[in-house]
Amino acid sequence: MPDEEANQLEILLTREQIYQRVAELGEKISKDYSGIEELIVVAVLRGSVYFAVDLSRRLSIPFSLDFIGISSYGATSYPLGIVRITKDLDINIVQKHVLLVEDIVDTGLTLNYLIKNLKTRNPKSLRVCSFLDLPGRRIVEVPVDYRGFEIPDLFVVGYGLDFQERYRNLEVVAALKKNRSGT
Ligand code: 5GP
Repeated sequence: MPDEEANQLEILLTREQIYQRVAELGEKISKDYSGIEELIVVAVLRGSVYFAVDLSRRLSIPFSLDFIGISSYGATSYPLGIVRITKDLDINIVQKHVLLVEDIVDTGLTLNYLIKNLKTRNPKSLRVCSFLDLPGRRIVEVPVDYRGFEIPDLFVVGYGLDFQERYRNLEVVAALKKNRSGT
């Protein structure tokens, strides 16, 4: 990575920390769902893809992987929490156990929308696994059943998370040294 980019980044989570935590989550989820016929792992495009792939490799239970694409208008635009589905699920989740995999829960608005939407399809169960959790910025309370790491109020990139489509392929999670007001 060029120097001018490296200067803007402060590493929060190393590759080793992430690898270890993802393995723990995979083990816990496999244990919790042991004995079920099939789990549908739903990864939210695009940020959660790196996490969902690594997590799925650590599952020892039968599962199918599907993707839901969303575009959110963000917490500052009006009306709040408006999310548009840009790619719907291919799998029918009626009476299926569903694990929704997110990259980060921040205000909770996106997850709130997704949970409501998926529940209308009558899954047998619906749980949420988020790689990162920023509980300090919640606008709506949302259930997060499995979380990788709680982080402070910083804008983070890497391991799937982008800033203007960049940094997704970083193997670490780093804070972008700019605050949310852009100063
Ligand atoms: P929420 O609706 O919970 O505020 O945010 C959900 C989405 O906003 C996340 O799935 C993610 O795409 C994006 N987001 C929120 N906080 C961050 C952040 O710190 N870094 C990045 N790269 N994306 C974020």
